[in-house]
Amino acid sequence: MIAFLGLGNMGGPMAANLVTAGHQVIGYDPAPTAVERVAARGVTVADSAAAAVRGADTVITMLPTGQHLAECYDTVLDTAAPGALLLDCSTVAVNDAQAVAARAAEAGFAPLDAPVSGGVAGATAGTLTFMVGGDAAALQRARPLLKVMGSRIIHCGAAGAGQAAKICNNMVLGISMIAVSEAFLLGRSLGLNDQALFDVASTSSAQCWALTSYCPVPGPVPTSPANRGYEGGFSAVLMRKDLHLAQTSAARTDVDTPLGAAAAALYDQFVAAGNGELDFSAIITALATHPRTPEAAS
Ligand code: NAD
Repeated sequence: MIAFLGLGNMGGPMAANLVTAGHQVIGYDPAPTAVERVAARGVTVADSAAAAVRGADTVITMLPTGQHLAECYDTVLDTAAPGALLLDCSTVAVNDAQAVAARAAEAGFAPLDAPVSGGVAGATAGTLTFMVGGDAAALQRARPLLKVMGSRIIHCGAAGAGQAAKICNNMVLGISMIAVSEAFLLGRSLGLNDQALFDVASTSSAQCWALTSYCPVPGPVPTSPANRGYEGGFSAVLMRKDLHLAQTSAARTDVDTPLGAAAAALYDQFVAAGNGELDFSAIITALATHPRTPEAAS
């Protein structure tokens, strides 16, 4: 039996896919709307985390932050069956992941950090990429479940390595989205149309995912959030979270990431201006209207 804690935008469809594949899943989430959605998809709903976890041989968590995770693990470590597989798919700080993994391993459980990329669409389609940190033996146990929820599984190393891969990847993504946005804005100011720049950059050395999958201007990539008012997709608030996780780790390990820091500051301003729920590619709209300093304007 699988206990699933955190049935939100990502956890809900992941749990539903496990049910579809024939697993018995007992879920818990304090948010009534999250619970209603998964109950309709065959997930058994418990009225507390402890009730969901009791007797489970696998516990999957998909929670907002490291603090939620640490609190949740107080219950999990008290309640789960001896030796249970504990699979955390949330995005949290590397040291938070390592701390819960150490507690879990000491209590005789098999912990893995397995953050994901692929967003809500990937969670729904069962095509997530899992970046896994922890023991190879625990990963072997987790593989059949990961294969239901995703299409790529990469063992990144020991506990915390999955989270390290996730924040490094997303730091590149945040920086590259800003770089792509700046290029479109500069191109427009030089009289270049968006499609022409896209046709060149997408087949030249500027090619990257921010450009070819989530193109921040409408038109060149019809499926990108820019074509639907930046609704849906990967929210700016989550990008901001990941950029700050990267900055916290960089400070802790004394690594200079000036572009990562600049990207985090730009997403701070963007979210503070009330744009947190928009797709992160909407940052282009803020860059376009960025107030100039008097010196820059003259
Ligand atoms: P979400 O806010 O939609 O879902 C999180 C759920 O956890 C909420 O429903 C909340 O009520 C629940 N929760 C909080 N405390 C709980 C507890 N103690 N026990 C059980 N449930 C609890 O967030 P999401 O978009 O599903 O993201 C979840 C995680 O996945 C985050 O760490 C996020 O950074 C990461 N992530 C999200 C995306 C995305 O596109 N949404 C992509 C990759 C990774």
